Order: sequence, then structure tokens, then C-alpha cells
Amino acid sequence: MESDSKPAVWKVPLFDLQMSPSEVDAVARVLRSNWISMGEVTETFESEFARQLGSRHAVAVASGTAALHLALVGLNLERDDEVICPSLSFVATANAVLYTGARPVFADIASTADPTISPQAIEALITPRTKAILVMHYAGYPCQMDEIGALAERHAIPVVEDAAHAPLAEYRGKKAGTLGLLGCFSFFSNKNLTTAEGGMIVTDDDESAARLRRLRSHGMTTLSYDRYRGSASPYDVSELGFNYRMDDVRAALGIVQLEKLSDHNRRRKEIADAYREAFRQLPGMTLPFVGLERGQGSEHIFPAVLPAPEERAGFVDYLRQHGVQTSVHYPPIHQFQMYRDIYPGLRLPVTETFGSCEVTLPLFPTMTQEQISWVTKVVQSAWMERVCV
Ligand SMILES: *Cc1c(COP(=O)(O)O)cnc(C)c1O
Repeated sequence: MESDSKPAVWKVPLFDLQMSPSEVDAVARVLRSNWISMGEVTETFESEFARQLGSRHAVAVASGTAALHLALVGLNLERDDEVICPSLSFVATANAVLYTGARPVFADIASTADPTISPQAIEALITPRTKAILVMHYAGYPCQMDEIGALAERHAIPVVEDAAHAPLAEYRGKKAGTLGLLGCFSFFSNKNLTTAEGGMIVTDDDESAARLRRLRSHGMTTLSYDRYRGSASPYDVSELGFNYRMDDVRAALGIVQLEKLSDHNRRRKEIADAYREAFRQLPGMTLPFVGLERGQGSEHIFPAVLPAPEERAGFVDYLRQHGVQTSVHYPPIHQFQMYRDIYPGLRLPVTETFGSCEVTLPLFPTMTQEQISWVTKVVQSAWMERVCV
């Protein structure tokens, strides 16, 4: 009984959190103040985030899913409009499209070595109903944005980025999230920057930003905080909005996490580079993005691709027995029950191959040298004993 309900104790978990006294102090300061919901601390977090990304505006929201939903609401989608997006993503990417009444149209990924949405696949799916292209920078590595930007411009379709994996990732000198009209981030607990739950939308467009600020707070034209600060103006409601606000407790955490983000990303890259070096010689293993040099990723996760789906269970089990936790990013969205019902018979061959052969290895900034060495050693022996036999 007890052993069943106990969480597994991993020698190396997939991900680990480490909050320092500076995060605890920042949160405590807000709790001891007289304002804990969305206020000045959230404004500071937004302006710092915008500054680090080089975007004009950043609008903090309750989650990455809320960011995606609001970004799409801001595009005035109508029922039966189409949004082209990857199936190789977290389910929230496509769910956010469905919330608006529009229809996700799934495009395949480029290859198992470049598991980001394929520009050719996008172009083949464009119809008069296509109202947006929603890309996702898998693992924090930028999509083929030159090609996607060019075709989007040719067809006059806005590009929205699901940059949940990609805070501070770079593409041709610009940050991920600033490469399209709107960029969406998640600050869920396992992301590179966390506020426990939270999200952000960035944009250079003044009108979009103003509208997103109203939409996240019931469509109201002024905020409780403005009235608290002395504004006498009553609020009006301009359109149907949501309660997707962030709060100052989370924003305080976000400010400290943002200060650490580039160091943490640098550490993630060192670990990912150590893995790449150690696994380079393993016959048949595909390490996505190696040799592409399309930009600087934020190394959100470390994916490895097995030569065949049949190899995965044994490989994962060997790692589990040696205390190494793994995951799969992602089971393709179109293969979930709910989506199978909407898209019976849809096939995305490259996405399906990737989804059945991928294994995500542990990667987090506070990994110790011993943990890194253990993972590399266990993966190498698993490969020799279970995969290459
Ligand atoms: C985490 C994530 C989301 C959703 O973010 P939440 O903050 O959990 O709502 C969306 N898309 C991708 C790619 C993600 O990784």
C-alpha cells in the first residue's frame, strides 16, 4: 500500500526545481504589502520581460494556455476559420484554437532531426479560411522562421508563436516570441522561467497590447488597481473578456526568475552540449537540431530519437531501473481520443514517427556533475544492451 502511493525516488529526475532565498524574499515582500493581486509588481515584471526580449509590450496572464487563447481571440477568429499549427506540441496549443471556435489544421514537422513545423507543409494547407499560423519552437529551438515569415507575408496571414519552450532563444539576432505578430510564453513550474502558474504575451503592436490588457480582465476599460491608485474614472466593458490576470505574488517570483534566466539557459546549454558530445558516437541515435545552426535554443528539454518505436519501452525501462526518469515530448495531439474524433484518419507520418521514437532525458540547471555523468553512462549502456543488439 505504502510503496504504491509513494512517489518514485529518482537518482536523476527529469526536472528539478530550486527556489533560492531571493525568490522566497520577493514573494514574502508582496505578501506583507497591502496589494497582492495584479498591480505594480506585475507591471515591473512585464516591463523587464519586454526589455529582455526587445519587444514593445509584454502582457502578463494566468498561464501559457491563457496567453495562447487571448492571442488568438485578439485575431478575431470566427467559427470555421482555420489556424495551421503543429500536432507535435503540448495539447494546449491546439486546444487554444478550439476555444475560439476556429479549427486547428495540423501540419507535419520537417524531419526527426528538425522536429519543428514544416514550411512546405504549412504552405500546402493554406486555404482562404486560414487566419493564422501558430508555430511552436520545440525544445526552445527556433522554427524555420525565414521561410514561414515569407510565406505568411505572401498570403497576408499573421504568425503567432507558442514560445513556451523558448524564453531568450534567438533567431537572427531577435528573440523567439518577437518573430511574429504575437509571442506566447508559459511560466508553469517545469518551464525555463517559472511563476508556478503564469504566462506572457509579447507584441510590438500597440493596439493589440491595449486590447489584450482589456481582454485579460473581463474586457474592462480600467483596473481595480487604477482606482486604488486614485483614478476616479468608472469602468466600461468594451467586449467579452476573461479573468486571465496574473497576480503580484507570482510576478515577484517571475522578476527574480527572469534575473536568473540567462545563467540558467547557459547552464542548460552546457549540459545539453555534454550529452551531445557523449551520444555522438551512438549508432542510430538522432539528436534533433545538431548541426542545423539556425539560431540559439533555450534548451528547454533534451530529446533523443531511437531508430524504431519497438526500442523505446526497453530503453526507458533500463533507464528507470537505473534511477533515470524520462518522458515523451510529445504524444502527437491528433492521436489523442478527442482529436481522433474530430480528425478521423488524419496521418502525419513524420510527427507520428517522432512521437513514437522520442525519449526526453533529464535536463535542468541545477543538475550536478555526478547526475550528468550518471545519465550519460546509463544511456550509453542502455543503448549497447537494449537498442543495438
Ligand atoms: C507548457 C506549454 C503550454 C501551456 O502552458 P501552461 O502555462 O501550462 O498553460 C503550451 N504550449 C507548450 C508548447 C507548452 O510547453
